[in-house]
Amino acid sequence: MKDAIELQTIHQKWFKKCSCELKKTATQPVPGAGNPKASIVFIGEAPGKEEDVRGIPFVGRAGQFLNEMLGEIGMKREDIYITNIVKYRPPNNRDPLPEEKEACAPWLYEELDSINPKLIIFLGRHSMNNFFPDLKISDAHGKLIQKKFKRINTTSFLPLYHPASALYNGGMRDTLIKDFKKIPLILKKLKTDAS
Ligand code: URA
Repeated sequence: MKDAIELQTIHQKWFKKCSCELKKTATQPVPGAGNPKASIVFIGEAPGKEEDVRGIPFVGRAGQFLNEMLGEIGMKREDIYITNIVKYRPPNNRDPLPEEKEACAPWLYEELDSINPKLIIFLGRHSMNNFFPDLKISDAHGKLIQKKFKRINTTSFLPLYHPASALYNGGMRDTLIKDFKKIPLILKKLKTDAS
């Protein structure tokens, strides 16, 4: 499949070329994973401990929760593509620094360019603020945003709470589950509008 090969080529290139300082402390890079023809790309913040060990995004507790929510809307991990703003684990899971986000940004843009999804879903405020610096996740979650950026074709964005933050917070968890259930209808509408 051409697109899978294209994504592999992108990852191989950035394994060598990425100038992120987190390379020095991380075990390995964690590139995006999933369906190269996905209609939805989920973007998280940065790999955690489990992801750093396995080299795959969202394979820890937050990833399991995400898989459960995908199941609830009749989707599997193989249906979507999932990646992070920063491709290396920050020490002790601290927030990524602006220069670390910047160093990993061209890698993310090439992934998005290759997949060209109908919808980009931000998992958490760090991911959302990378594209929409002025928005607050408490206001923006669950609301579809349309915007044209210079660097990507996708114009539809859905911010959600991060599954790791929602895991142990009952109210946030319920809100995330409720917001997640909006995804099929949003996607259906985007596909209808495009046809
Ligand atoms: N949290 C993230 O933002 N990304 C991962 O890959 C795992 C947990």
